[in-house]
Amino acid sequence: MESQTILIKDTIIIGDEINKGSILVEDDKIAEINRNLDSNDADTVIHGEGKVLIPGLINTHTHLSMTLMRGLADDLLLDTWLNDHIWPTEANLKGEHCYVGAKLACAEMIKSGTTTCNDMYFFMDQVAKSLDESGMRGNISHGMLDMGDEEKRKAEFKESLRIIDKCHNTADGRIKVSLGPHAPYTCSTELLKWVRKEATQRGVRIHIHVSETEFEVKNIIETYEGRPFEYLNRIGFLDDDVLAAHAIWLSESEMEIIKDKGVKLSHNPTSNMKLASGISPVSKMLDKGINLSLGTDGAASNNNLDMLEEMKIASLLQKMNNFDPTVLKADDVFKMATLGGATALGWEHEIGSIKVGKKADLALINMKAPHLTPYRHPISHLVYSANGGDVDTVICNGKLLMQERELLTMNEKELLEDAEETTKDLLSRS
Ligand SMILES: [Zn+2]
Repeated sequence: MESQTILIKDTIIIGDEINKGSILVEDDKIAEINRNLDSNDADTVIHGEGKVLIPGLINTHTHLSMTLMRGLADDLLLDTWLNDHIWPTEANLKGEHCYVGAKLACAEMIKSGTTTCNDMYFFMDQVAKSLDESGMRGNISHGMLDMGDEEKRKAEFKESLRIIDKCHNTADGRIKVSLGPHAPYTCSTELLKWVRKEATQRGVRIHIHVSETEFEVKNIIETYEGRPFEYLNRIGFLDDDVLAAHAIWLSESEMEIIKDKGVKLSHNPTSNMKLASGISPVSKMLDKGINLSLGTDGAASNNNLDMLEEMKIASLLQKMNNFDPTVLKADDVFKMATLGGATALGWEHEIGSIKVGKKADLALINMKAPHLTPYRHPISHLVYSANGGDVDTVICNGKLLMQERELLTMNEKELLEDAEETTKDLLSRS
């Protein structure tokens, strides 16, 4: 088969250094980065003047299908939010809801420069279908919880293995599957030990929520005589294939455990602020050399999936928390949203930076706008001034997913109507 080429011409490339140049994409990979690439031979030519080319952003903690619950319940205590609104709605979820919700999330992510996500939810083969059709890359996991119930536990094992068998390494390698125990307070020790064993045997990764609230930490201390990461370490659960979301309430010794075991973290500042869960000691952990990435969490607690906005909020929150404007600099948080995310998902050799030979996962951001003028320092503008609406063109796995803000893998107008109808159906069941 003839190879397909895309040339992005005369742009600012955010690679190891920031340079003006052109970039040639051949099939799924970055084939050449050069100052003067000839446009004659490329199948598609994209003009990059006045724009900046970044690695596709990597959102390491999502619940994509929750886009259908966007704006459903705000300004509530976590308990009330979950018990009275989110869980009753989730009880009525069907595969079709999750498919459409995830498709809506894909549209939103592509339109704001994200090419890879790490998703935990239900009906994950439907989520995989949305990711596949949209052209995105994703690591998915069935969210497991047993609350100590053996019957429920067995059902969770079965569903997790079904999703691995059906979806792992599909869509030309764009979709991988992890095991997704929800959290140490909703999963029994038996469940967590099973996850550890299966993950090692099957070579899949683990995605879990840990220490999102102070209440959860107290609960674990009372039940297991140790803080969450101490308990997880004691039962042999932790390794460098574990990605823990939130990780807010941490002791010094837990930070040491995270570092020693090479555990990856996903920081979710907007969700943490909106639910008033607490502030993760991110800048302190970066200084310790812990691998940190960035995630939005679900759209019901954010309420969008805009990683450009998330970068700014992450940086501002750390500055305020430390009363120190020099912490979590623009460069640091940009790295969390790109290579840090790739590393968190074990994908650092393929994505997360712009290098010859890596997968062509790229986003082109338009810098010609009043809120981005004058324009001198691209990373500063990306983190502090830009938002998802400035993303012009997106490529994932060498395929154009959006050009000049037009989605190419889906009909946006029909999708929005479909999402409204699907939400109506979901809410009418409650
Ligand atoms: Zn979450």
